[in-house]
Amino acid sequence: MKPAAVMNALTVDVEDYFQVSALAPVIDRASWDSRPCRVERNVQRLLALFERRGARATFFTLGWIAERYPQLVRDIVAGGHELASHGYGHLRASDQSRDEFLDDIRRAKSLLEDIAGQPVLGYRAPSFSIGYGNPWAFDVLQEAGYRYSSSVYPVQHDHYGMPDAPRFAYSARPGLTEVPVTTTRLLGRNLPAGGGGYFRLAPYELSRWAIQRVNRIDRRPAIFYMHPWEIDPEQPRVPGTSLKTRFRHYVNLHKTEARLDRLLGDFSWGRMDEVFNLKHNAS
Ligand SMILES: [Zn+2]
Repeated sequence: MKPAAVMNALTVDVEDYFQVSALAPVIDRASWDSRPCRVERNVQRLLALFERRGARATFFTLGWIAERYPQLVRDIVAGGHELASHGYGHLRASDQSRDEFLDDIRRAKSLLEDIAGQPVLGYRAPSFSIGYGNPWAFDVLQEAGYRYSSSVYPVQHDHYGMPDAPRFAYSARPGLTEVPVTTTRLLGRNLPAGGGGYFRLAPYELSRWAIQRVNRIDRRPAIFYMHPWEIDPEQPRVPGTSLKTRFRHYVNLHKTEARLDRLLGDFSWGRMDEVFNLKHNAS
């Protein structure tokens, strides 16, 4: 049964399998250009699936990808989706100096805007890497002209997380809204409810339950996020990774597209800028 007509935000972080932060220790960035790219076909599959289901989404796209696949960027926009930025080179905000971060997010924004011919308002940090150690990142986002960010995940996790951050949209700086990825609150803790590895690794019903809880109890829209490589069981396996990383990256890849199709049918889905009314931030 379809829950009440809350529109949730569907988001895709557009990067390829070899750019994933968890694989960074075993993949030299200098090798990116020589690896077989799979992002184009995977995003095309997502676009086709979203079209079939009448879902609109926000695509947080890497500048590195946009530069190599400008037609893909134009296809995203032509599909009625929101184009947003995932930075240029997939560096964690927390691993960069202020100047490096500014360069990275500016470069991505202007590349995307040049290709799409429209303003890019949103940014998502790789690995949700805005947290306790780098609140200055919000000043830099504001300086670079972004209007919103979706870079904080209010959970406890070994790679990211800011467990006591606000769970819902808040004004991070004048004119800059942070919209944290969705959690559900249970027994005094925030549980992840926004997709990613949890969507692939845990049973589908858990994700559905968590999103319904947010819609019904908090009476808020949820944000769901995923990556194009998560629907690609044929992607090359990267050797030398830890058991934990292999588990997180490769388990259930073959099930994810069907599961996503189900999720698209169980809820209604829209773009970040529309679901959270972020266009009003534009001056
Ligand atoms: Zn990413």
